[in-house]
Amino acid sequence: MNKIAFIGAGNMARAIIIGLVNSGVAAQNIMVANPSEGKRLQLEQEFGVLQTSDNLKASEFANVIVLCVKPHFIEDVCSQISQAIDITGKLFISVAAGTTVAQIQAALTKESATELAPVVRVMPNTPSQLGLGMSGLYPSKEVTAEQKESADTLMTAVGKVIWLETEAKINDVIAVAGSAPAYYFLFMEAMEKHAITLGFSAEESRMLVQQTAFGSAQMVVQNSDLEISTLRGNVTSKGGTTHAAIEKFKEQGIDEMVKNSMNAAIARAEEMA
Ligand code: NAD
Repeated sequence: MNKIAFIGAGNMARAIIIGLVNSGVAAQNIMVANPSEGKRLQLEQEFGVLQTSDNLKASEFANVIVLCVKPHFIEDVCSQISQAIDITGKLFISVAAGTTVAQIQAALTKESATELAPVVRVMPNTPSQLGLGMSGLYPSKEVTAEQKESADTLMTAVGKVIWLETEAKINDVIAVAGSAPAYYFLFMEAMEKHAITLGFSAEESRMLVQQTAFGSAQMVVQNSDLEISTLRGNVTSKGGTTHAAIEKFKEQGIDEMVKNSMNAAIARAEEMA
């Protein structure tokens, strides 16, 4: 049975903990470490997890250590842990954007060490908060099959996962899934704004857009044997209203716009690495 420590008790840690507890992991096998009391006490009260202000205590307790601090704290946190405790046999899972496996391993390596620590780098997205996340996972070569299974179970508790063959693919996952909830929000915002100009109330506009997006996503999920273009074709009669709108999107270069925007996310991720 894994004992899991979360270093940092913010939004991402909370999302994963909710998923784990809901999937039946015993709260007593989870410990959160955070310097300020508020978030960790709330997690203790809501879910019964163990909590501490001491990263070392949590790291000693666990065999799986989930690094859930902001990227600029990752290296300090890792060297603090590796200098103070024996990390042999412990798996490190990092959800930090832009911090590489090599950087994490370097921070976890004491001068006397001969082996690198096993690290799984994860790129999750915000729907993980609802158990509807999409994560890309990349393991360092030191990660054992059993540890890979542990990382898979952890992230499957908050959504779906794919394993990546190269670390560079993490940046592609950012473009396709990590940053992508905001693309859909942007599209929904634009539709909502125009619905208001067409005379619907703000409440009506929100409901029209939200329910349509939700229903459309469900249709894609429930018809996973069909191409998305087939679903679109099924509701687009030639010469009809939907056809008129789709042609206008195409005329304005929707494919090019999406491709360029996704590539901008990849370029930014590369710059930040
Ligand atoms: P957050 O600010 O909500 O949580 C970070 C927590 O870390 C805070 O509670 C903070 O008090 C705590 N902290 C700061 N310094 C610490 C230290 N030295 N030791 C222990 N705890 C410390 O941030 P978040 O949104 O949960 O993001 C956490 C990580 O997840 C980031 O690295 C981010 O890149 C990654 N991530 C988040 C999302 C997301 O959707 N929120 C998506 C992908 C990746």
